[in-house]
Amino acid sequence: MDLTRLIRPNILALAPYSCARDEFKGEASVYVDANENPYNNGLNRYPDPRQWKVKELLAPIKGVRPEQIFLGNGSDEAIDLVYRVFCRPGIDNVVAPVPTYGMYQVCAEINDVEYRAVPLQDATFALDVEAMAAQVDDYTKVIWLCSPNNPSGNAYNEEEIENFLTRFCQQIVVVDEAYIDFSSVPSMVSKLDRYPNLIVLQTFSKAWGHAAMRLGIAMASEEIIGYFNNVKYPYNVNELTQQEAVKVLGNVEKKNRQVAEILEQRDILRELLLTLPCVEKIYPSDANFLLVKVSDAPAIYNYLAGQGIITRSRHKVQLCFNCLRITVGTPVENVTIYNALKEF
Ligand SMILES: *Cc1c(COP(=O)(O)O)cnc(C)c1O
Repeated sequence: MDLTRLIRPNILALAPYSCARDEFKGEASVYVDANENPYNNGLNRYPDPRQWKVKELLAPIKGVRPEQIFLGNGSDEAIDLVYRVFCRPGIDNVVAPVPTYGMYQVCAEINDVEYRAVPLQDATFALDVEAMAAQVDDYTKVIWLCSPNNPSGNAYNEEEIENFLTRFCQQIVVVDEAYIDFSSVPSMVSKLDRYPNLIVLQTFSKAWGHAAMRLGIAMASEEIIGYFNNVKYPYNVNELTQQEAVKVLGNVEKKNRQVAEILEQRDILRELLLTLPCVEKIYPSDANFLLVKVSDAPAIYNYLAGQGIITRSRHKVQLCFNCLRITVGTPVENVTIYNALKEF
């Protein structure tokens, strides 16, 4: 794959902004290079623009090199950067399955990039590779895959994704693994060296329990990450977030314990809900939520909201008629949902 053919010409030619903290590496005793206030309050200095402390802790956990990691203000920043690095506004297009995570389309529209949505297969939410291939042309720069997929909950298996990466080797394939810690399917991160067109997205917002911290992860070849670094805002991850991320990464066991608990609760919640007459079907889930087909989604959504229980209605989303997406909560929350629905 010739990566430079996929990069927007203006990004290829870009001389990136060089900030004060990019030009000097290491420790000094006097910093008078960035017009900061010299009085130490813990936050008076600009943060590390490349977040090396966080990346050095994260890299061995993910089995990649720190240079293969981009960190951003949530995965949403990485999603937006995919468009800004690869897609020429008004010219290029991207292909994605539907239903899937809404931000891919919103960011496409913001960047004036045509978004070609291809329905997943009815009832199973399996990929329709041929239908996707039919939408790919010379102007297709990116193909989005979310696995496990939001809102359907299913993960595509490894072999399926590898076939996909080979078939669409002239495009960038982004695999959004926001829910990978809850999945029985392994991460594609271990395949990065084999597929130069692969970008894997992950996040601290779900399994790691830090949605408020706003830290998203993109992993890819050093070459692709280099372009992301050139285009991102210089200080895109603030100091408080970097400090908290260092703490969070020091306690992988806590994350693993909570994931195990949530997986147990996912089964319990499924069994409870399946006993209810208003529940018609619950789709298999490789994530921390259940897509639940109910008898009357709008009515049940409103009823639950009236009880102070907020679910996500996917009723108006293609292939999700009468479906509510319910996040697995604490044991008490899960029983509360069940008890409320029993009274519907
Ligand atoms: C929740 C979610 C994310 C996380 O986004 P952040 O900006 O990192 O909080 C990313 N992708 C998908 C599919 C999600 O459902």
